Amino acid sequence: MTSRPEAELDTSAAAETKTVSGDNTRKVFVRTYGCQMNVYDSERMTDVLAPQGYSTTEDMEEADLVILNTCHIREKAAEKVYSELGRIRKVKEERAKAGKDMMVGVAGCVAQAEGEEISRRAPIVDMVVGPQSYHQLPSLLDKARQGQKVVETEFDIDAKFDHLSERAEKPIMKRPPAAFLTVQEGCDKFCTFCVVPYTRGAEVSRSVEQIVTEAQRMAASGVREVTLLGQNVNAYHGEAADGSTWGLGKLLRRLSEIDGLDRLRYTTSHPRDMDDDLIEAHRELKSLMPYLHLPVQSGSDKILKAMNRKHTRDEYFRLIDRIREAAPDIALSGDFIVGFPGETDQDFEDTMDLIRRVEYGSAFSFKYSQRPGTPGATMEDQVPEDVKSARLQELQALLSEQQKAFNASRKGMTCDVLLEKKGRNPGQLVGKSPWLQPVQLDAPESMIGSVQAVEIVEIGSNSLFGRLIAGQDAADGSGAIPAPAA
Ligand code: SAM
Ligand code: SF4
Repeated sequence: MTSRPEAELDTSAAAETKTVSGDNTRKVFVRTYGCQMNVYDSERMTDVLAPQGYSTTEDMEEADLVILNTCHIREKAAEKVYSELGRIRKVKEERAKAGKDMMVGVAGCVAQAEGEEISRRAPIVDMVVGPQSYHQLPSLLDKARQGQKVVETEFDIDAKFDHLSERAEKPIMKRPPAAFLTVQEGCDKFCTFCVVPYTRGAEVSRSVEQIVTEAQRMAASGVREVTLLGQNVNAYHGEAADGSTWGLGKLLRRLSEIDGLDRLRYTTSHPRDMDDDLIEAHRELKSLMPYLHLPVQSGSDKILKAMNRKHTRDEYFRLIDRIREAAPDIALSGDFIVGFPGETDQDFEDTMDLIRRVEYGSAFSFKYSQRPGTPGATMEDQVPEDVKSARLQELQALLSEQQKAFNASRKGMTCDVLLEKKGRNPGQLVGKSPWLQPVQLDAPESMIGSVQAVEIVEIGSNSLFGRLIAGQDAADGSGAIPAPAA
């Protein structure tokens, strides 16, 4: 699929993590909306709660604590949260009839944006916790248990990162083979359509030491692939032990030295922050996977300027050329917004032209959504909904064609696949190709967590189908190796 609304990333933290310590007498149900950064934050919340005796559950009805980890990037986000809270109210009432308590927390960017309004509109909510306050969950829970309505939306991100690194020294959760690691949060770019600088605050990078410690701990608990996360991950500028500042390229080189971490990825990047050192890292590092999510949003210089993206389409083309020169096999991905205020048919055509020239392996695309408080929301020339819908359809048809072509070009190749979990059918496992495509194949369960050489034999609509290459070790972890002679 070309466009994947962020809500489709919804995942229960219970599915991702498993508690292995604590007395596990209480259950927490976490529902995660939005981007991978929220998935990571949900895992951290369950980490923080584990010593309090909480283990995760996928069944809300047995939960003593329910947390909605919310996303505010597009409209109706808050309304979706309120309607979910309506459903939770009924579950809470049922539990009360059985003499059982249930605490309810709202976390994430909707919590940050709505604050006290949430407890006012939904009195069942005991705690409203902004994205920078998760480390305080145990003390906030205590206050809520004493009957206080808790609203904690301070922007003390350094305190959060310090606390997370403390936690990192105590292994609590068994991690799946592929995991996220936040290295940077917030954004100073102020694109005129985007709420992130307001909900996540200014850009802050974690220190090199904190990240390396957490990555080592992940590797020790079975993680083979780490995706470094940040709203602008390639703007990373963390402090090293000697006081110097490291960019993302240098950080990736350091992480590539950690035993057991076979694969590295990072997302999401801004074209302005794609520096030479990071591009060189793609050439040099075998463990850095050949996939890059580099949103451009629009192919029209006029719209790029109105969006405050701070680069032109030509600069983007030149950047793509440099990246492809360093990593010819790289799968490019992006984000597109159609119907930004003032977007004419010609501006839209410029975006279509950019897509034809770049050729993406996959991409996300959205209709522009007016976000209160952002400059775009009050701009003149808002584009009518029906025009946005027609443009989105056309753009997605093109992206979908390109995705199919990219997937088809993998047929017959042999590549390394990280086997992550069981598939739908007995005897089947699902993994990821170097280009981030899901790959399904028959393999024994004991191979979960290993990187295997796989021949791509068939192409489905959303995934590739593969065959284990018997006796062939996973080559170098980096990607394609020539297909065996037929
Ligand atoms: N920092 C990344 C960048 O600059 O490319 C993007 C992060 S944003 C959380 C994820 C994507 O959501 C954006 O790339 C954009 O395509 C989309 N998005 C953000 N605000 C939007 C809005 N108001 N309407 C539609 N899509 C939006
Ligand atoms: Fe939002 Fe990304 Fe722009 Fe920052 S760079 S304001 S996160 S779209």
